[in-house]
Amino acid sequence: MSELKYCQGPDCHTYFTQDRVKGPQGHKTNQTRRRSSLYYGNGNFCDMRCQNDWFRQYGTQAVNYFGRLTEAKHLTEQNAWTKDYDWSNGGRTYVCRNGITHEQRPLTEAQYNDSNYTLNTGE
Ligand SMILES: [Zn+2]
Repeated sequence: MSELKYCQGPDCHTYFTQDRVKGPQGHKTNQTRRRSSLYYGNGNFCDMRCQNDWFRQYGTQAVNYFGRLTEAKHLTEQNAWTKDYDWSNGGRTYVCRNGITHEQRPLTEAQYNDSNYTLNTGE
């Protein structure tokens, strides 16, 4: 049996829906949603409202904690690679495309699916 996760929305328990009413007869309370899978915010929130509530309350702290951008980033030939599909050969193949030079290079499916694999060499 998979483990149930609580929605991380700070106000989840304050919203009135039938599935939030839990507890023994006569002592039911509105509770934070708990599910085996949550589909919002990387599996941390039950819906967009709870995700937005969390960001409203903690977003600025999170940005400051993980590093606030203090100058513009620039798109260059070195960081313009994105992964994509190519359908031009009658089937799906995996490619890297450079948004500046428009160069295209083939990728294996494993490289496409590897979130750490990139041709980008700068930010
Ligand atoms: Zn929630």
